[in-house]
Amino acid sequence: MTHDCDHGLSCGCHNPTAEALFKMFVQKSSAAPATKAAPKAAKPVTSPKPFMLIHDNGGKGVIRTVAAGDGNATVEALVIFDDKIHFTGPLKDARANAASLAQKHPDAPALQTIALKDGQCVVPGLIEPHVHITTSPLMLDWENYSPFGDTALGEDGPSDDPSAEMEAQNLRPNYCLAKLKDALKADVAKLKADPNKKGWWLLGDGVDTSLMSDFPNHAKGKTLLDCIDKNFLDPIDDQTPILLVAASEHTAYVNTPTLKIIWETYKDKLTAEYQTEENFLNKSSGVLQEMDQVVPALEAVHEEQLEYLKKNLPNNLIRMLKVAQKRGVTLVYDAAMQDRFVGPIHEYLETYRNEQPDWPSPRIGMAHLVNKIGDIPTDFSFAKPTRPSADDPYQLGSLNFYYGSLKIVSDGSNQGLTGYQIKPYCCAPKEYGLYNFPVNKTDSDKGTPEKAPPEIIELVKTAWGKKWPLMLHANGERAINYALEAYEEAVKVNGDISAESLRNRIEHCSLLTDERLNRIKDAHIHPSYLIGHVGYWGWTFRNYIFEKLAEDQLDRCKSSQKREIRFSLHSDCAVSPLGPLRMMEQAVTRKMEGSPDARVLNEDERITSAEALAAATYNAAWQCHAEHLVGSLEPSKLADLVILAEDPVKLDAETAYLKMRDIKVETVLIGGRSALDS
Ligand SMILES: [Zn+2]
Ligand SMILES: [Zn+2]
Ligand SMILES: [Zn+2]
Repeated sequence: MTHDCDHGLSCGCHNPTAEALFKMFVQKSSAAPATKAAPKAAKPVTSPKPFMLIHDNGGKGVIRTVAAGDGNATVEALVIFDDKIHFTGPLKDARANAASLAQKHPDAPALQTIALKDGQCVVPGLIEPHVHITTSPLMLDWENYSPFGDTALGEDGPSDDPSAEMEAQNLRPNYCLAKLKDALKADVAKLKADPNKKGWWLLGDGVDTSLMSDFPNHAKGKTLLDCIDKNFLDPIDDQTPILLVAASEHTAYVNTPTLKIIWETYKDKLTAEYQTEENFLNKSSGVLQEMDQVVPALEAVHEEQLEYLKKNLPNNLIRMLKVAQKRGVTLVYDAAMQDRFVGPIHEYLETYRNEQPDWPSPRIGMAHLVNKIGDIPTDFSFAKPTRPSADDPYQLGSLNFYYGSLKIVSDGSNQGLTGYQIKPYCCAPKEYGLYNFPVNKTDSDKGTPEKAPPEIIELVKTAWGKKWPLMLHANGERAINYALEAYEEAVKVNGDISAESLRNRIEHCSLLTDERLNRIKDAHIHPSYLIGHVGYWGWTFRNYIFEKLAEDQLDRCKSSQKREIRFSLHSDCAVSPLGPLRMMEQAVTRKMEGSPDARVLNEDERITSAEALAAATYNAAWQCHAEHLVGSLEPSKLADLVILAEDPVKLDAETAYLKMRDIKVETVLIGGRSALDS
């Protein structure tokens, strides 16, 4: 595979499409970076301070504290005072505790008592330890052609609200190229019928050929990566420009009307290479790769349409955060933030908070994306490794906005065939994937070199020396080996900074042998698994992309648990939908949702529901450098908790399937304040 890319690779972590869009929007915006702007006077919160006693009502409900990381730990009652957990323990003592608080604080509001109803369950606020809050909201207004939805493509969903597409957690029925074509036809017709959208393009996102049921049979001689092209798109309409972005957001598919606009817009430049429009159109396949092809296409989108998308960006960010809250999430950790995006995001949140002072935003942690040593922040006024504090909401360094780590993207994604491998992909016997740092090409006919490139080792060493915790994205077997080597080398020259103090992570860390697991344990590295790889993509991995290797190596949660390796689960949203309960379910059942009979991928790697709960709360908080404040319900921690209609820990590997994800989230408290619209 040829790939002339010096800026990073595919997966939600690095994504040229969204980066291009965001850059365009941010450049056009007059917003000053929030780190430099004078703080605006915030409207005061009007709701009373929380003072609450929650109890299990004589065992009708259950309160799971996950104290010290134990998913089975329960208490009878807890007391919330101000924004913190003040007490946990027997109900009798909780009542006494609340009474003494009331006495000590005569100005406190009246105690609110919640007796859990039959089956209700309190758990710590759930955590998404790896999402993308810049890229996901950007394309919320695009047509959604992703594999996730409750209806087949082209069939109307229950709601026109753009948030609805973010809420879908199941694979669509019959997701295939044929349905995609029908949906595109219908959406083009709708667009043409709207007099206010003259000249607008059909913009679509989320296209994932790896999950299409009629691939590869449908597209003979094509690969996952090029089975959609202008020949596929042109029969749909000969006037409306179409631009579809693949789920990896590294590839865009365009039709001839779009190519014609690109020609018109860049005629001067393109003439040098192609001489005539006809020649340009003949030579273009309609598959655009990377920034240098995708960005010009996006910049040619109709001006009014771009303005419209830009105007909705703040709302879409809030929408995403609210969808997260509906799924019980109280902390999101962005896995690829850049300084120039922080200002606008900060400003959107400030503006919204001034309108809705009683709405508690989810807490937001961030990893700063670095590609080379020069990217490591030295200007600590904007970013330094932070253990967040509970005070000072929305200021950098507080739990409502903090930088906990640096992020490095080392390879691509396995379902995009760009994860960097030791052995070639089963479905593409010449492909080993891509690595984001220069590898020694002289051995490339013998596969991929064993030794890690010096650049990745130096980058990890330098970050470590500056005490930055790292999130290192590595999906393929070879990339994970390189990550391990880099960490093992870095500790040698930074002996005074312990590995355990940094909590270094490998993101996705998809394919693990016993040997790799043992090295992870020895080097104090902490994997975060994109567990949707098992539930959503497992069938494709098992049958097509990796075959037996998927069975043996994919997302080895139980083996991590047995070795006491602290791991977490993540969605990488928008790669897979937000939802820790769904991720817990997939780790517990390991059922492949694309298989006809919900077959299990490697039964031995199933974890228990209690272990999954710990992964989604305590372990995730620890990996996000925030377990001293959130992640379990213990006195002096923040009152971030969720009341569920049902206890997820009571569901097992069979009963959880397609059920745990839909447990109703009834109440979400962040700092004791209610987050859900009532
Ligand atoms: Zn690239
Ligand atoms: Zn990634
Ligand atoms: Zn990511």
